Amino acid sequence: MNSYKQAWIYIRKNKRFLFSMIFFLIIFQLFNSLSPLIIQDILDNQLLGVTGTWYESSDGYEVGGIEIDRVSTSNQAYTISYVDDTFYVSEGELPTGTRQVIGSDIVIEGDKYPAIKLTEQEMSNVFETQQSGIKRDLILLVGVLLISIIASYIQRISGALLTVNTTRDIRMDVVRKFEYIDIGVIESEPVGKTANRLLSDTVGVSMLYTSTVNIFISSVLAVAFSFVGMYLLSPKAAIFCMIMIPIMIVWIRYFTRKINGIAEKVNETNSRIVGRMNEIINGISILKIFNSEEMTVDGFRELNEQYVGEKMEEVDLHLTRGWNGINLFQGLVIALVVGIMSFANLKGITAIEAGLIYAFYSYISKIIAPLNLLFHEFSNLEHSKVKIGRIFKIIESPEEDPTFEEIEPYTGDIVFDNVTFSYDGEKPALSNINIDIKHGQKIGLVGRSGSGKSTIINLLMRFNDFMPTDQGMIYIDNMPIDKYSKRTYRSHLGIILQEPILFQGTLATNIKFGKEATDEQVIDTLKMIGAETILDKFDGDIHSTISNNGGNLSLGEKQLISLARVLIRNPQILIMDEATANIDTETESMINYALSVVAKNRTVIIVAHRLSTIRDADQIIVLEDGKIVENGNHDMLLSKNGKYMEMYRNQIGV
Ligand code: ATP
Ligand code: MG
Repeated sequence: MNSYKQAWIYIRKNKRFLFSMIFFLIIFQLFNSLSPLIIQDILDNQLLGVTGTWYESSDGYEVGGIEIDRVSTSNQAYTISYVDDTFYVSEGELPTGTRQVIGSDIVIEGDKYPAIKLTEQEMSNVFETQQSGIKRDLILLVGVLLISIIASYIQRISGALLTVNTTRDIRMDVVRKFEYIDIGVIESEPVGKTANRLLSDTVGVSMLYTSTVNIFISSVLAVAFSFVGMYLLSPKAAIFCMIMIPIMIVWIRYFTRKINGIAEKVNETNSRIVGRMNEIINGISILKIFNSEEMTVDGFRELNEQYVGEKMEEVDLHLTRGWNGINLFQGLVIALVVGIMSFANLKGITAIEAGLIYAFYSYISKIIAPLNLLFHEFSNLEHSKVKIGRIFKIIESPEEDPTFEEIEPYTGDIVFDNVTFSYDGEKPALSNINIDIKHGQKIGLVGRSGSGKSTIINLLMRFNDFMPTDQGMIYIDNMPIDKYSKRTYRSHLGIILQEPILFQGTLATNIKFGKEATDEQVIDTLKMIGAETILDKFDGDIHSTISNNGGNLSLGEKQLISLARVLIRNPQILIMDEATANIDTETESMINYALSVVAKNRTVIIVAHRLSTIRDADQIIVLEDGKIVENGNHDMLLSKNGKYMEMYRNQIGV
């Protein structure tokens, strides 16, 4: 589906703004193209217009002994000429061409025409006739300008309304989509990048239409109306000016092809920068702990440099081959047209007047102006397409099966039967994993970073699906985990993530989290897991607001809240990805106590970074490169004197 069709899904709901935008753009262009005609009339017909053909009349203006006006066209014609700061009147219609005065004759191309010199009084009489015309023209001009301004205002307001309304709709849909999204779609990207997309990419949807309308309607109408205007003034010159069009089309095609690639690169780099910044800001404490600020800054510098290079390439393209080039082109065309007209005038082929030159100058500028806009808007257009592509990747991504049915709680037996799994279909993240967990057991998963601990959890939670290239199966209570829809399946699983997440709301809403529970249950749960200190922090009021993702709470406290959240849902199986960051010993023992409470009569799987957490586990599974290298309880593994022993020694520092 192309970008326009995709965006139309959203534009459609607000199409009245689109149509009003188009309608008023047409009005604007129409009226905007009238003003050169009016100004040309003032200049040529009203101010300089006393020269030219007049007709004998019984109640006209007296010049050189005759009365003349401009309306009695069936009577004898006279010509008023302007030569060397003086006006003359001659009988008949004089041809065009350079005029000279020799004696009492006007000489044009060697032919003599008798002429009478007009007095100043006679001239001012004639000019008076023009005053009403000038007044009319000025009123027209003001009217035309007013209508153009109002039309342009409504057009812009409509465009803005289209943008804000579609952006609102699409943001709503994207956020709603996240509820059902298959986690695999977003987890491969940094959170900041995804968030940046949500904000800026959603604007792209309406921008595609507003840019397109601006570009195409403005250009087409400006060219069409200007051509009509020029044609009315001078058909030959108008047709001559049209040779600009094919040249410009070729030019635009060249430019668009060039800009296509660059816009995409710039956009991509830009959102990577925002993503990186987000990561850095969110992870600043970790960066400091590991002293890796330097490394991060280096990586960021590279990305930044890349952006500078790509953006400058884009700017250069705009400057040299975009709107600057078109300005030069405009100058050339105007010079050429005026040059040819003047030449024709001198040769006596056509008469040229200042107003005509002014009008052509305006019309050529009016044709060029939207092209200028086109070059500016074109990158917007390309950026929009990229943005729409990305946003629809999210909107159209596969959804989890939303069906849900109540099922009996699990007993809590879990079997990993020879599981081999790969994220990319090539490099296995897990190989031949066999684990047999009985209900009520506590299992520890340990291993170096990248050894596959989270992958085991992802599979068990069904955050990632088995692909045809993968092998084996996971069973809960002898039932393959893909028997029910994901929603149903997860309803009796509890998970505590490595980074506990708190939402805007109160302590109570964060613990209840959609589950029906009384305030007493919440308080009891907190007390049960030994989290009275949290209650104290909130002065015993569980309806106090948690600020800013729990900014005033420690990591340990946040994990305690997550634990309470899980406990209130009472799942048979609890999965916990232990926080990696440093936790003080007091908090650690608090969490361990809470865990021991929560773990009663439940199957608990813990990804452990602190071996103290799983000292009492029934099984400790040691992973390396996606394989199980050791398996047993703490004492058994210590006596093996293998990998676990090595890790243990490292941690206790002996
Ligand atoms: P850590 O202690 O750092 O959390 P881990 O033991 O949880 O590490 P996993 O996240 O399970 O390690 O990663 C196992 C392997 O799979 C690694 O090689 C990792 O690069 C790869 N991997 C993890 N997640 C993905 C993903 N979404 N797409 C592709 N490869 C992935
Ligand atoms: Mg992990």
